[in-house]
Amino acid sequence: MPPRLIKNLPESELTAWLQAGGHAVFRLKQIRQWLYGRWVLRFAEMTNLPAALRQALVADFLAFSLDPVETQEADDGTVKWLFRLADGESIETVLIHAPERQTVCISTQVGCPVRCTFCASGRDGLIRNLEPAEIVDQVIAACRHRQQRVDNIVVMGMGEPLLNLDNLVAALDLICGAEHLGIGARHITISTSGIVPGIRYLAELRRQWHLAISLHALTDEQRGRLIPPHHRYPLAEILDACRYYRDCTGRIVTLEYALMAGDNDSDADATELATLARHLDAKVNLIPYNAVVQHYRAPDERRVRAFEERLRSLGAKVTLRQRKGDRIQAACGQLRRRRLDPAQPADPASD
Ligand code: SF4
Repeated sequence: MPPRLIKNLPESELTAWLQAGGHAVFRLKQIRQWLYGRWVLRFAEMTNLPAALRQALVADFLAFSLDPVETQEADDGTVKWLFRLADGESIETVLIHAPERQTVCISTQVGCPVRCTFCASGRDGLIRNLEPAEIVDQVIAACRHRQQRVDNIVVMGMGEPLLNLDNLVAALDLICGAEHLGIGARHITISTSGIVPGIRYLAELRRQWHLAISLHALTDEQRGRLIPPHHRYPLAEILDACRYYRDCTGRIVTLEYALMAGDNDSDADATELATLARHLDAKVNLIPYNAVVQHYRAPDERRVRAFEERLRSLGAKVTLRQRKGDRIQAACGQLRRRRLDPAQPADPASD
């Protein structure tokens, strides 16, 4: 049997494996500390384990799942990785630097089945789901890079996380678990295109994870131009699910809104968005569109500010997200696409 990713194994299975090999069960705690507290990549580094146990671990498991094939670092400290997985597929992870906090944006799938028209990740559809270990290891890579535990996780990279729910939840439990990475649940944001059954499922788990909806459009007709029908839910159902999430968890929902010139940036759009956010008691996160697809572009700065001001004047809680790492193709899927298709322009601004 080929080695398995050790972080995919429930602890009960790992305990049984230790017992079957004649190893002391307390070794589990040591292994856990090396994997999640010291972020080691190889069992050979676990120096307080007996050599026989290290050899047995090497024979049966892999300690780390990602191979960095490209790393780009922007002047603002943002880092982007293209990681190769064991089967040769690749994913992207971004470490966003701010003086007061380090945030990792992680992927949950190779490709994406939703195939939004404005997104590089969805262009080829879904290749496969990431396993829990492959999701967690992106966070571990970022911790190793900074030599400190990161502060926040945003599940906003490649893929629709709520279409890989079981693996997402298993990974987040490792990321948040006090005996694992120990990052507080309130520091996790899960962003979805609006997969209603997934939102309701998460609501009923009653974890303290923050939910963000990639809204980008205010009517079903407008959304229909951005999201193909197979994974698109009616807006009213998404908003109902958001209310349910807030009621179950007590957490305010964020509406992500990528501003695209001429598509969703009119005064009427701002009014509609403010109304919707107020009714939902939601925050709005405005993001000037990071040019990935030629058809779409961000409005100029004046228009962005005017949209923001209108939202504020209508009583909406709004933040304008600073674009980080434009020069390193930090929008999801851009780096991977350029690897798959070297004819892609290197500078997204010229895309
Ligand atoms: S925007 Fe998100 S949901 Fe849409 S195709 Fe890209 S990764 Fe998938």
